Amino acid sequence: MFLVTNGRLITRDSENPYFEDGGVVVEGNKIVEVGDDLTLKLKYPNAEIIDAHGNVIMPAFINAHTHIYSALARGLSINGYNPTNFYEVLDGMWWNLDRKLNLEGTRASAYATYIECIKNGVTTIFDHHASYCDIPGSLFEIADVAKELGVRSCLCYEVSDRDGEFKCSQAIKENYDFIKHTITEPDGMLKAMFGMHAPFTLSDKTLEKCVEMNNGMTGFHIHVSEGPNDVEDTWEKYKKRPVERLYDKGILGPKTILGHCIHVNEAEMELIKETDTMVVNNPESNMGNAVGCSPVLDFFKKDILVGLGTDAYTHDMLESLKAALAIQRHNAKMPNVGWCEATDMLFKNNAAIGARYFDEPIGILKAGAAADIIVMEYKPYTPFSDKNIDGHMMFGMNGRNCITTVANGRVLMKDRELIGIDEEKINAEILKASKDLWKKING
Ligand SMILES: [Zn+2]
Repeated sequence: MFLVTNGRLITRDSENPYFEDGGVVVEGNKIVEVGDDLTLKLKYPNAEIIDAHGNVIMPAFINAHTHIYSALARGLSINGYNPTNFYEVLDGMWWNLDRKLNLEGTRASAYATYIECIKNGVTTIFDHHASYCDIPGSLFEIADVAKELGVRSCLCYEVSDRDGEFKCSQAIKENYDFIKHTITEPDGMLKAMFGMHAPFTLSDKTLEKCVEMNNGMTGFHIHVSEGPNDVEDTWEKYKKRPVERLYDKGILGPKTILGHCIHVNEAEMELIKETDTMVVNNPESNMGNAVGCSPVLDFFKKDILVGLGTDAYTHDMLESLKAALAIQRHNAKMPNVGWCEATDMLFKNNAAIGARYFDEPIGILKAGAAADIIVMEYKPYTPFSDKNIDGHMMFGMNGRNCITTVANGRVLMKDRELIGIDEEKINAEILKASKDLWKKING
């Protein structure tokens, strides 16, 4: 049993939102009690103390859409790569990279991503993986690293027709094998979805095969209408809009995540709402790829569950939060919109998305919830409480303020020191894998 104490406590629980001098008691993988610091110290005198040093104690972050496979791209310059549209970004950069990513590279990418998550206070991720060089076993490699480093993960493999029938069937099988694995050997920290790339790289035959193989075991995780090319391609081939096509194939539903949904119309939003399908917004990535601004304000008006991801552009959820607000205001040309939507995506809706996959509540500090707790180094020089916490998050904090990370009751980082993780050794392995990968890419 331990007590995270000596800090301002933000719980994200509407019944007890804030304690000026707060603490969280943890037993095993769950929170036993949250409350006033002194009361808890008296009640649990034998609990080990984790000192927040007067900083902010709060729920750990959830990233609702990311890509482990892109971890080794940092600093990479590809000869001749100069994209002029979204398709060229995918083909020249990401497909080029993942076609050369072997199992060793996937493993190194998982280490790199998970360490970044821990340092940024992220303890749950929904990942969408692709490594077309070595497909079989890739999700199991990631799961192995997730288990070692202690980050809660919902994984899937990106099925696509882009590399031919054989690779496509391997990708389908990887999803199937991994989903079966999470069902037959249940682990509260590991879940699976059925991953698919995007409608424009998936034939009807492949979509049908995915639905048949999944057979209702889990939800789908797919990019939809990220660029206008997805809409044009679907219209040209099927005389439908992408969301309509997925609806007709039985892919929408409460356990399915649609990534991006930038170019969706009113009728498509109605289908998303009708089926209670989840949407994940990735604002920084969208701006970087110059694909447009997701109609997040409209999703909220329609009461669609929309969460916040990073698309691996960053692992810092507060960076993504800042971008989410800025792009909505910029797009609407109105400086008074988007505040509640941006903060609700990160703090409320990501927790709701997490609840559709994981057993214990996450994104909240209350008795019975999973012990996913972070300490953020932050000593405000303006008034601070639950009433204005989001303003402090938006303008005062970033992910690297995180000094202590606890996931499922396990202390992964304490006072900026990774616990039980040989970072230097892991970094050396990552560096070796990235050098090998870069050599293959640039020849
Ligand atoms: Zn993505």
